[in-house]
Amino acid sequence: MASCIFCRIVAGEIPSSKVYEDDRVLAFMDINPVASGHTLVIPKTHAADIGALLPEDLTALALALGRIAPAVMKAVQAEGYNVLNNRGAAAGQAVEHVHFHVIPRKAGDGRGYRWLTFSYNRGEIESLASQIARSIGRH
Ligand code: AMP
Ligand code: ZN
Repeated sequence: MASCIFCRIVAGEIPSSKVYEDDRVLAFMDINPVASGHTLVIPKTHAADIGALLPEDLTALALALGRIAPAVMKAVQAEGYNVLNNRGAAAGQAVEHVHFHVIPRKAGDGRGYRWLTFSYNRGEIESLASQIARSIGRH
């Protein structure tokens, strides 16, 4: 997609600080990092939603994340990491090309990540579970 900034990075039209590349996956440093070492892992093929990716691209992404996330953590001497994919503006997705953030974490680093939780009403959890299962389509 010509207008997509990450497609342009894949094509080499926009510079990036690459950390990993294979046939299907590219990883590069985030230019507005949440923490030192913040890395983005993307499929080379454009898609906005992980559900639209070819199984081969999704597999390659998962395999790459399994190598990259621990390596990022080690490189910056972090103690852990968050791997996250924002989908949709409501979830904070600014770039409409699938990307996984790898954010190195240290205890007390102040980056936070505590979502507000709530309690389901009686019976709600089971009915939602079956609604989601139906939505997935095979269960
Ligand atoms: P999201 O809000 O999940 O869509 O995240 C988009 C991320 O892409 C942000 O963390 C940005 O800092 C990052 N980003 C945007 N443009 C570039 C770029 N040219 N090179 C590296 N990272 C970028
Ligand atoms: Zn793209």
